[in-house]
Amino acid sequence: MVAPCERSSAAREDCAVTPRPLPKTVVPFPNELLSGWLSRLAAANYCDDAELLAHIEIDTTYGTALDFSIDAAAAEKIASAARVAPDVVRSLTFPAMTPREASLTALMPFQHCRQCSREGLSLRHWRRAWAFDCRVCGTRLVQTLGKTRDEQIPDKLIYRARRGAGMLECAARSRGPKKLRRAMRAVTFAMSLKTFRGDPSFAVQNPRSEVRLFCLAAIAAARSQPLAKAAIISKSIDEYARVALLRAFEKEPRLLAAVDHIPQRRATGAGLMTGKSHN
Ligand SMILES: [Zn+2]
Repeated sequence: MVAPCERSSAAREDCAVTPRPLPKTVVPFPNELLSGWLSRLAAANYCDDAELLAHIEIDTTYGTALDFSIDAAAAEKIASAARVAPDVVRSLTFPAMTPREASLTALMPFQHCRQCSREGLSLRHWRRAWAFDCRVCGTRLVQTLGKTRDEQIPDKLIYRARRGAGMLECAARSRGPKKLRRAMRAVTFAMSLKTFRGDPSFAVQNPRSEVRLFCLAAIAAARSQPLAKAAIISKSIDEYARVALLRAFEKEPRLLAAVDHIPQRRATGAGLMTGKSHN
């Protein structure tokens, strides 16, 4: 071991801010997320996450942000406290992402694997909107909110959503924007039917399974059924849904016109029915 007095002045400066090594360390799992590993490290040392970060002298407000971007100084502090190499710490954060991948990667946990969570694991993969089954044990990931029992979700919906998730991954990683645009159009359509508002990329990262699974299934369904046709035969088109659909089809004038005919058709249909009932 090198005595502090033998180090260069820069090293001495580092030494002054380096936290004491923790009594216990834990070995990171492949694909483990930094915040998850820090939680395991805290548990192994009988403290909570905030106490651990305070010991390492990292502002707790940056706790979850560290998963996406960590500077050299913070990586060095964590590495020193946990007795691992700084590169190991950096390898637990997300690598550089394309804007498309970033839009489909959740900043906060929205799904998890029941089996691996029990062991305190948290994987980077789970944050991706397209992640469907756990990479470690193969169990289907579950949303953090909403339905918890598998049997409440129809098998058919799970099957279609899994296919849609695969297509979403392919779209997110494809070179051009076309595939993702098509997938998001299907999601926008699904959102309109569920009267779920907001950005389509958030719908597929929704902590409620009924929203996320339905939107993923729509990506798979849109492959076999044109959306405009689906919109026309849909029974639950209201004013909000119409606006959502118009937005979804705004770059395709032919489909836009077809969708815009829906309320007219419905109004005519309703008028005829009302007329008949009075006769
Ligand atoms: Zn698992």
